[in-house]
Amino acid sequence: MEYRKLGSSDLEISVLGFGAWGIGGSPFWTTEGDRASEKALLKAVDLGINFFDTAPVYGFGHSESLIGKTLKPHRDKVLYATKCGLRWEKESLGSIRKVATRQSIEEEIELSLKRLQTDVIDLYQVHWPDGETPQAETMQTLLRLQEQGKIRHIGVSNYSVPQMQECLEVGPIVSLQPEYSLLQRSIEKKIVPFCQEKEIGVVAYSPLASGVLTGKYGRDTKFTDWRSKGIIGEFTGEAFQRNVEKVERMKAVADELDKTCAQVAVNWVTHQPAVATALIGVKNEKQMEENVKAAGWKLNDEAMGRLDSIFSVK
Ligand code: NDP
Repeated sequence: MEYRKLGSSDLEISVLGFGAWGIGGSPFWTTEGDRASEKALLKAVDLGINFFDTAPVYGFGHSESLIGKTLKPHRDKVLYATKCGLRWEKESLGSIRKVATRQSIEEEIELSLKRLQTDVIDLYQVHWPDGETPQAETMQTLLRLQEQGKIRHIGVSNYSVPQMQECLEVGPIVSLQPEYSLLQRSIEKKIVPFCQEKEIGVVAYSPLASGVLTGKYGRDTKFTDWRSKGIIGEFTGEAFQRNVEKVERMKAVADELDKTCAQVAVNWVTHQPAVATALIGVKNEKQMEENVKAAGWKLNDEAMGRLDSIFSVK
């Protein structure tokens, strides 16, 4: 496993991170069960992954609890990244609100520390910008948590350049977590150069476009899980058909390199400017074992060029 410094922080994180959304379960989708998730987490540690990204909202506490319980014996060699800023009502788990006020974050941190069974969170990220709370209030709250020793570093997720600029006026942020994959490259024009200039590490989420880039879906695939609900990603209509066609062309590149589509797609992300780690969403040991082989090598220039031409077509 390769390790990189995360932005301006002192954290040395694995170039592949464990994305723990899928292991949380939710009213929208099912997991293969906690036992499979626990095995995937332990397999990740065995394979050298030291960066685990979760959020209170993943499975409404369940993802954090599962990590806290399973990784407790390994806490000295793993780094926990979790988030704040998305709240839900107990009665209606589906309705999620963006709220990054002082009061809300101070409540959230205590719950996360408890679920993760730890005294300190290594990277604490604002999950989504909250359009109503002043950025200064959110940042000052996070800086206070840092002073109190409850968090080591501050990060943000899904933020634009102006939103990051507002944060930086108050204090340092070491990372940005945006969606980034061969199929979703919107950060490249403005966000990536800004992150490079400010030493903000990119923690890329959905590097497999939530499974599309594994090549396991065909033109006739019909989704019945959360993917059919249009929450994130493109799983229906012409956009899906276009994406499947691109992945079919990527498969030829992967075959020539004796790699799987998933390995090629994730490797591509890890070698883009400003990227510190790619969060791979895995639900079982088998996916972990395949995806970890996305690290430890680099796509050659010819393959990079072919991928660029396949995925630049709208
Ligand atoms: P990916 O793009 O890596 O997709 C992961 C999904 O692809 C898995 O859940 C699995 O789904 C499928 N998959 C993975 N590997 C394989 C394989 N080898 N063979 C076949 N199928 C495979 O990531 P996610 O979209 O899950 O995002 C990753 C992480 O990023 C999340 O867990 C979370 O930590 C973070 N995230 C952050 C967000 C934010 O707003 N900050 C938003 C979204 C994600 P299945 O088995 O069901 O097919």
